[in-house]
Amino acid sequence: MNTLFFVLLGSPGSGKGTQAEFLKKKGFLHLSTGEILRAEIKGGTELGKKSKTFIDKGELVPDDLINAMTLELLDKKEGDSILLDGYPRSLVQAEALDFFLDNKGRKLDGVLYLDLSVEESKKRLAGRYFCPACKKNYNIFFSPPKEASLCDSCRIALVQRSDDREDVVAERIGVYFNSTLPLVDYYERKKKLIRIPASLSPEDVSKKIGSVLENGRFEKK
Ligand code: AMP
Repeated sequence: MNTLFFVLLGSPGSGKGTQAEFLKKKGFLHLSTGEILRAEIKGGTELGKKSKTFIDKGELVPDDLINAMTLELLDKKEGDSILLDGYPRSLVQAEALDFFLDNKGRKLDGVLYLDLSVEESKKRLAGRYFCPACKKNYNIFFSPPKEASLCDSCRIALVQRSDDREDVVAERIGVYFNSTLPLVDYYERKKKLIRIPASLSPEDVSKKIGSVLENGRFEKK
């Protein structure tokens, strides 16, 4: 495929991680700012230390730190089809990304917006667990393990992401609706928004994304 540049936008719990896996199989390089930050924290880097205080509270890491980290990385990934996941998350970040792409003569092909209600987002996050060994994701409501709390393959106890705890979830959802939701209007005005109902099953959401890619709907201005 020609190189493409997509943003994956949606509330926490809207299924971005699952659809990113689908898009990786289609040849996209998946850049998740949340995953990159968690690796920085694990590695004990300066950026990790600065970010941890915000992440633990469910707040956004300041725009200047995130813009520097993400745009530096994008600069090195010119020949790849990119799927940006978790970035941009504020208007300041969206404008920084536009400025960067304009400067580099690159273009944003589309924004895949996984549209999900607040109630459903909260419910999904509260049920989200993963295997600390193989990283497989489960949801106790929608895709439970065969045996309660145990990974189907590794047979070890599943854990919750520290920011999926109920108090932090409420904050993350609030931040999403205040800071990130305005991006829906922003990209709609730019005719980049591709709205996908995220309440469908993960397979049906993937089918919709697949047909967007096949039909090149995003090419139309
Ligand atoms: P995620 O895995 O995408 O849900 O991100 C986990 C956490 O990392 C978020 O709750 C934020 O604290 C932080 N984070 C990730 N991406 C960004 C971003 N683009 N801007 C600010 N903070 C971010």
